[in-house]
Amino acid sequence: MNEQLHRLSKLPLREDLQGLKPYGAPQIDVPIMLNVNENTHELPPAVHEAIVSAVSEAVSGINRYPDREFTALRRSLAAYLGHGLSAENLWAANGSNEVLQQILQAFGGPGRTLMSFPPTYSMYPLLASATGTQYVAGERTSDFSLTAESAAEQVLEERPNIVILCSPNNPTGTALAPDVVEAVYEAGNATNSIVIVDEAYEEFAHTGTPSALALLPRRERLIVSRTMSKAFALAGARLGYLAAAPEISDALRLVRLPYHLSAITQATALAALAHAPSLLANVEDIKLQRDRIVEELEHMGLTPAPSDSNFVFFGGIGNPSQVWQGLLDDGVLIRDVGIPGYLRVSAGTEEETTRFLESLRKLL
Ligand SMILES: *Cc1c(COP(=O)(O)O)cnc(C)c1O
Repeated sequence: MNEQLHRLSKLPLREDLQGLKPYGAPQIDVPIMLNVNENTHELPPAVHEAIVSAVSEAVSGINRYPDREFTALRRSLAAYLGHGLSAENLWAANGSNEVLQQILQAFGGPGRTLMSFPPTYSMYPLLASATGTQYVAGERTSDFSLTAESAAEQVLEERPNIVILCSPNNPTGTALAPDVVEAVYEAGNATNSIVIVDEAYEEFAHTGTPSALALLPRRERLIVSRTMSKAFALAGARLGYLAAAPEISDALRLVRLPYHLSAITQATALAALAHAPSLLANVEDIKLQRDRIVEELEHMGLTPAPSDSNFVFFGGIGNPSQVWQGLLDDGVLIRDVGIPGYLRVSAGTEEETTRFLESLRKLL
């Protein structure tokens, strides 16, 4: 690796990329993988079959470019989200990471700034540097919460061009109160700032947790981003999307690559959306395991954060890297997010969750 880094240093890499490290959650092949918040449930057989047959049909026309506007998919995503949205409010790309990158390409870039509030999704600063956007880290209170008043004050002070609010937040798991989104949007009025709410985990939120989708009417700079990677168990298919005013999609059409969503991807996503109810039934099962983890960790004397996602962020760990390694030695991979005293674990199937809890109990 050192030799490779040395060779890289001789290439004419952009100055602002020199010395940066790529995104890299470890991909280690162990029996229990609970480290990147994947949906560990296999697809129900009927959904598997529907995807295979849709892909097979798409392959028949694969000599042609796919529908550049992925119209059927946008219509289906709008129907899934509800909230009075229609196809023109939807946009999609290869994972919500690509959606976010396109937003930064269109609205960020050299001389512009992106603000988010760490600890939050580690990709935001990386997407900023890849697009030449300056990253500004806002602050949370010591218990990782963020109030409307504090967020708005920081946005007024920093005047960012783009703000990303992650709700439910990764890695803490907790959803933001909707007044935070409203206050940040209002604080961005003077600077005409784009406000993105990353709702990658929204389907896992406790019943009654409001989505920022309800705030979209009359807020043309607000973008709600979603993904099929988590609730729909399609991480390997790469399909993320957003809902916003139609002119947001017009901006992204200027930066997306032609035909960026393959016919295979469009067919896969459409087939999965047609089976949304059976996929979302697994979400209910994952929520049960999530609540079980919170409860049992409390019994172990640890301090799990309230979770509206498919993972649990927990404190009270004296030596996180040692506990992380101990679990790994026992065949259980979780995530050390680099925050002193804390670790993060994804809720798996009942059996995987049991293995994690037993393994942790032995270690403590
Ligand atoms: C997992 C995750 C995503 C999803 O990324 P995809 O590119 O859609 O797979 C987006 N945002 C956050 C905060 C995540 O944790």
